[in-house]
Amino acid sequence: MNTIQSIARRVTAALMLVCVLSTMFAITSSAESERVVKKNSKGVWVCMKDGKVEKSYTGVAGNKYGWWRIRKGKVDFNATGVCQNERGWWYVKHGKVSFGHNGIHHNKNGWWYIRDGAVDFFANGVFKARNGWWYIKQGKFDRSYTGLASNEYGNWYIKKGKVDFEKNGTYEKGGIEYKIVNGKVQNNGKKIFLTFDDGPGAYTDQLLGILDKYGVKATFFVTSAYPSYQYDIKKEYDAGHGIAAHTYTHNYWTIYRSTGGFWEDHNRIQKVIEEQTGHRTSMMRFPGGTSNTVSRRYSRGVMSALTKQAADKHLFFYDWNVDADDAGKTRTANGVFNNITSGVRYHDKSIVLCHDVKPYTVNAMDRTIRWCLQNGYTFCVCQPDGYNYHMRVAN
Ligand SMILES: [Zn+2]
Repeated sequence: MNTIQSIARRVTAALMLVCVLSTMFAITSSAESERVVKKNSKGVWVCMKDGKVEKSYTGVAGNKYGWWRIRKGKVDFNATGVCQNERGWWYVKHGKVSFGHNGIHHNKNGWWYIRDGAVDFFANGVFKARNGWWYIKQGKFDRSYTGLASNEYGNWYIKKGKVDFEKNGTYEKGGIEYKIVNGKVQNNGKKIFLTFDDGPGAYTDQLLGILDKYGVKATFFVTSAYPSYQYDIKKEYDAGHGIAAHTYTHNYWTIYRSTGGFWEDHNRIQKVIEEQTGHRTSMMRFPGGTSNTVSRRYSRGVMSALTKQAADKHLFFYDWNVDADDAGKTRTANGVFNNITSGVRYHDKSIVLCHDVKPYTVNAMDRTIRWCLQNGYTFCVCQPDGYNYHMRVAN
């Protein structure tokens, strides 16, 4: 993507976020007697609640001009850094939440990856900081990590949380030997985003073990199809995989009959994700993909409306350009292996659709991952502002 497009997208995203947040704020401030930020008679900006300055409050609060860092009831215009309130963790500059800002910043709990002004708790991989490239896990700089980690520029040798550009030689993981030059794994430059839909389920644990063996990260588009396996979402998150919303029911009648029905279902799976990880995700995938025509049977034009609304809600949706076909005609591990390994040859960046609820898919993974690594591919986690592939909306 060129720079102008990228800047335009960021600015649009930031503006949308401001709209969403200001709407949220407007709704809550009318619902409860909420805190308001205003200038008092002495010209001091204070945070009020129930008509009084709320001296006990330290956090983030808003007014029509933006969101502000509050310390003991007053706006702290000297504050710069990561501050929190009940809605999230925010990057504040000179007292004001800086929407649209990206970077790595700290507070007393550590260093955090900021995307569009807020900590992105689903950021995983290698990110650029002012003094080098850092390994981020669950949005936080992880200085305890030594090993390999990837971003869209490649696969890197990490030493105590930072890319070690001095590293030369070899590194072994899961029986694969990597050649490293100046911190970078030598490979074919092609990226694979493994994505697993419809779980967690009975085979997810087995899959997590295989991914862990090779140190490979994937992205899980989760549902509530098998509620007794919901704890696996936490396991996926804790292992540094991407977590994205698929839907709660995956039932076309529920999700594609109306846009309202879809978002109600979406909120249910977000609640599950929040219970398991502590946070809502900004990544999602529509069942059947955005190009599905089955939804037309339930509601004409629903995909056009939903894709537009997802953007308005600051959600990033993902389709795929390589299909394991494991929810289609392919029912064997051999078939899944062949579909993936032949599919990824055609793309520099492959988003591979798989289902961790299919035993033959999970049984194919050890061999598939090994083949891809031995042939020089790098596995990456989906990121909101990273590579994406969209199909044509057909309803
Ligand atoms: Zn699905």
